[in-house]
Amino acid sequence: MRRLCILVFFVFLIGGCAEAPKEIVSVPPPAKGPLVAEPQKKEEPPAVLNIPRVPITRKWSYIVIHHSASYAGNANAFDYIHRVKRGWEGGLGYHFVIGNGHGSGDGQIEVGHRWLCQYHGAHAGVAEYNQHGIGICLVGNFQEDSPTPKQLASLVALIRELQQLCGIPSENVILHRHVRNTECPGRNFPYYEVLAKLLR
Ligand SMILES: [Zn+2]
Repeated sequence: MRRLCILVFFVFLIGGCAEAPKEIVSVPPPAKGPLVAEPQKKEEPPAVLNIPRVPITRKWSYIVIHHSASYAGNANAFDYIHRVKRGWEGGLGYHFVIGNGHGSGDGQIEVGHRWLCQYHGAHAGVAEYNQHGIGICLVGNFQEDSPTPKQLASLVALIRELQQLCGIPSENVILHRHVRNTECPGRNFPYYEVLAKLLR
């Protein structure tokens, strides 16, 4: 009887192992990583975006627009490059990243921890614009391609919200190449089209 019990026990053990899941269930990234807002579905930007509300504790005077100069990407990928390859302790140098459908959703806005913690940026290469400039990076290389309509709609909506939150006038919404010797955000970025849709 005792042998039978042991046998049954081992059969149970083997059976249990056989039923173990073959795949490891992935866990969503922790909340301290870049948060994700819903991509915008309409062409016209909504009045308020679904980005996390944080107290504004830094004097933000500018919004600086960048492209990633890459075909694909997302906030986590750029965070890795900035943190590991460039050795920046604060990681992701931008405050926001807007996806193009390659690496994150088309028009998806990712919010970096520098915005959530109201840290200075590491995107402009000029102290004034890093300290007081909100860095927004659109995924893509706009020397060769153009931003997608969804990226532009999200960008306009995001900038309008930041203008309201921080009291930033349209003339202080600038491109990276306005403050640094760079092509960023590329020759195909429609700056005046964006400007025309911003708050006066
Ligand atoms: Zn740039």
